Amino acid sequence: MGSFKWINLFIIIFYCFLTATPIISDSNTIPNFLDLAKEPQVFDWMVDIRRKIHENPELCYEEFETSKLIRAKLDELDIPYKHPVAVTGVVGYIGTGLPPFVALRADMDALLMQELVEWEHKSKVPGKMHACGHDAHVSMLLGAAKILKDHEKDLQGTVVLVFQPAEEGCGGAKKIVDAGVLQNVSAIFGLHVLNNLPLGEVASRSGPQFAGSGFFEAIISGRGGHAAIPQHSIDPILAASNVILSLQHIISREADPLDSQVLTVAKFHGGGAFNVIPDSVTIGGTFRSFSRESFTRMKHRIEQVITGQAAVQRCNATVSFLEEEKPLIPPTVNNGDLHHYFQSVAKSLLGADKVKGMEPMMGSEDFALYQEALPGYIFFLGMEDVSVEHLPTGHSSYFKVNEDVLPYGAALHASLAAKYLAKLHQELPVVEVKYHDEL
Ligand SMILES: [Zn+2]
Ligand SMILES: [Zn+2]
Repeated sequence: MGSFKWINLFIIIFYCFLTATPIISDSNTIPNFLDLAKEPQVFDWMVDIRRKIHENPELCYEEFETSKLIRAKLDELDIPYKHPVAVTGVVGYIGTGLPPFVALRADMDALLMQELVEWEHKSKVPGKMHACGHDAHVSMLLGAAKILKDHEKDLQGTVVLVFQPAEEGCGGAKKIVDAGVLQNVSAIFGLHVLNNLPLGEVASRSGPQFAGSGFFEAIISGRGGHAAIPQHSIDPILAASNVILSLQHIISREADPLDSQVLTVAKFHGGGAFNVIPDSVTIGGTFRSFSRESFTRMKHRIEQVITGQAAVQRCNATVSFLEEEKPLIPPTVNNGDLHHYFQSVAKSLLGADKVKGMEPMMGSEDFALYQEALPGYIFFLGMEDVSVEHLPTGHSSYFKVNEDVLPYGAALHASLAAKYLAKLHQELPVVEVKYHDEL
C-alpha cells in the first residue's frame, strides 16, 4: 500500500472517529440481557408463566385470571403497577420513577377457537385458545421486567410495562391510551412472534407495516314472498348480490393500483327455504388499506354503494361499521428514527445477520393506536427451528409457540428500553422541549 493510501486510510478512520455517535454513552452499565434471559431461573420462570396462561385462555376484556397472574408476578418482583387500566390491563413501572419514560407492550387476549394441539398444557377452556402467541408476549414482558428489575439502579429513567387487553379486534390499545397512562412516555415498543422466521431472528420495516382495518355489516331489506311469484316480492337476495359485485368495483376501478387495498365480503345470510324470497339479507366484511386517506374514502364509498345499489333494486339498506365492538384500526406505521434505533440494538444483541427487513402485511395490529398518540415501533420475532418442525401460522388451531423464543423477546424488550432511556437521558433537554411542543 502506497503512502497516499495510508493517508487516505488515516483520514477515513479519523473521520469515522469524529462522526460516530454511539447510541449509548454508558453501554458498559447495560448488561447482555440475552445471556441473563437464558439463565434457567429466568427461562424456566417464563415458560411456567406462559404455560399457565396458555391453559387458561381469556377473550377480549375478560382477561381477569391473566391479569391476576401478571399482578402476582409483579408483586413477586416488587414492581409497582396500576390496575385496572382498560378493564383488565396492568401498567407496571421499573426505574427511577422520573422522566424519561419508555413503554413496552404485551397483549394478553386469546381467540375464540378450539385448540387441536395435543400436549400437556393444552387449553383447558373448550373453544378458546391462545393461537396468536399473546401468552408468550405476556411471559416475555414479565421476563424483561425480571431482568430489568435486577438492574434497576442502572436505568436512567422509567420503563413502563403495558399489559394490554383485547388486541384481537377489540381495540384494547385505545382504552390504554385513553386511560392517560402513556402521557409522558417518549416511545413505545412492541413485538409479535412469527411462525416462519428462524428462531432468534427479527424482521421489521420503517413506515407502513400493517394495514388499517375496518368491518362493516349491512341489512338489505326488500319484501318477502312466494319464490314462484317474484313480481309480488322485492328480492333482497338479488339486491345483495348486485351490491357485492358493485363493492368489488371500489378497489378495481376507483383505487390507485399502486396503493394496496382489500375489500372482502365474508358474510352473507339470507333465506332459509327453496321456495321463499326472504324479507332481508345481511352481508358483512372487512376493508383494509395502508393510508388513512384511502381508508376513509373506502369507508365512505362502501356505505354509498350499498345504499345506492340496494335502491336500484327497490330495497332499503342500513350500513353499520360496528365501531363500538370492533373499533377501526388505523394503519400501523413504524417511526423511522425508532427503526434505525431498533436495528442498531437488535444487531448488537443478535448479530447483524439476524436482523431482517419485512414486507408490509394486510393484517392489522391495534399497536397502531399507540402510534397515533406517540412514536411507536413493532417488530416480528422469529421462533421457527426447522430441525424440530415447521410451525403453523397464527390463528390456526394447530398453532404452537417454540418456547426457546422467550429469552429473545425478554432480552430485546429489556435492551430496547434500557438503551433508549440512556439515549434519552443524554438528549433530555432537547427531547423534553420537543415532546411538549407536540402536545
Ligand atoms: Zn391475532
Ligand atoms: Zn397477535
